[in-house]
Amino acid sequence: MDDKRPTGWDTRAEAVSFFGFTDFPTVKRRGSIVLTHGEGPYVFDTEGNRYLDANSGLWNMVAGFDHPGLISAAQDAYARFPGYHAFFGRMSDQTVMLSERLIELAPFERGRVFYTNSGSEANDTLVKMLWFLGRAEGKPERKKILTRKNGYHGVTVVSASMTGKPYNEVFGLPLPGFVHLTCPHYWREGMAGESEAEFTQRLARELEETIAAEGADTIAAFVAEPVLGAGGVVPPPEGYFQAIQPILKRHGIPLVSDEVICGFGRTGTIWGCDTYGVVPDAIISSKALTAGFFPMGAVILGPELADRMQAAAEAIEEFPHGFTASGHPVGCAIALAAIDLIVEGGLIDKVREGAPRLEAKLAEVADRPNIGELRGIGYMWALEAVADKATKAPFPSELSVSERIANACTDEGLICRPLGQSIVLCPAFTLTDAEMDEMCAKLSTALDKVFAEVA
Ligand SMILES: *Cc1c(COP(=O)(O)O)cnc(C)c1O
Repeated sequence: MDDKRPTGWDTRAEAVSFFGFTDFPTVKRRGSIVLTHGEGPYVFDTEGNRYLDANSGLWNMVAGFDHPGLISAAQDAYARFPGYHAFFGRMSDQTVMLSERLIELAPFERGRVFYTNSGSEANDTLVKMLWFLGRAEGKPERKKILTRKNGYHGVTVVSASMTGKPYNEVFGLPLPGFVHLTCPHYWREGMAGESEAEFTQRLARELEETIAAEGADTIAAFVAEPVLGAGGVVPPPEGYFQAIQPILKRHGIPLVSDEVICGFGRTGTIWGCDTYGVVPDAIISSKALTAGFFPMGAVILGPELADRMQAAAEAIEEFPHGFTASGHPVGCAIALAAIDLIVEGGLIDKVREGAPRLEAKLAEVADRPNIGELRGIGYMWALEAVADKATKAPFPSELSVSERIANACTDEGLICRPLGQSIVLCPAFTLTDAEMDEMCAKLSTALDKVFAEVA
């Protein structure tokens, strides 16, 4: 029981810092891990242990932890212009170039970009934009935001309200006016005898009924991740976006694609919405945008919302919003380098080419009586543990099965994240075949160990 690690660093970390999204009993029992540096997809702790980080940090370190091109882009940018803002009609040249690049890559002919420091702030900014638009256009009641249960959109008061996770109840969230629809997870939410296409139709009907019940005039947007990420890596059911987009269009409700995880290659295309053949009205980006080398988020508005925002802002002579570090020149320079690396430098091709191999290897790992579902696309996957494969019954939550698996992985030198009863794998795009094999072998060992204990 008491296998707390004998390092001074963990005690020091725990004494003075708060860990977010951390299972405190695990930290009490096993200690925390203090990291010093990384090499490729590996990170090293203060004890000299090496871990293969199968989650690429938090989905973001897609080029690994020591990419020389990104490090020198950052060093050059710091030497040239180490900080500026994007207020009062001033912004850095790097910011201008990044916006041009983002619009060029977005599925929009034209558009405008607004920068933040995180994905949460980008979602928050989007909602403020829509509320601002509603008031400017004489529709102040048009404020409600539709999202899905298990959708993850961040942690600020507004983005946590958009997030469809039960844990936000501890904060008294969501705020009123944030409506959560059924999680589009066919394996879990599909009814007995219901086909995947019928499930999609049921979700489309639910959307239609929700719009009718809430009033189309009161709804500012529908915001969705192409693939739910922190909700457990849930790709949409067959025909999902094709079924819901016409409904939204008919009611004049913008479709916003939260591409914080999917954006920049995770699904094998630049945007997740490209993978699913849908053109949204706006895109939210962060995480891989800078390959995790700088905190940055962006709201990318398509032509219609961009024009309406511009008109609304001109009417009152400003858009009173922005963060001190919005459009930071170093962040923008790093993002430009990261995008080059992903788009032209072959990282996105690596995902596209590596995905079938990853899927096949994970299918072998998942071929166990206690894995209920392997799901994912590109370089984002989850394996869901079940007590009974036939009934999909989960393990009792007090067994903390996914925590145990993650801890057993850590013992093997593999970092992967527990999520509900699932284990998430979202490695760096630079992963070699040998590293992929190591990841799957270590995961297999950990699964064998834990299922021998609990199953
Ligand atoms: C991580 C994430 C966010 C929040 O981004 P932060 O930078 O952590 O604030 C928003 N949306 C999605 C889909 C995410 O995965």
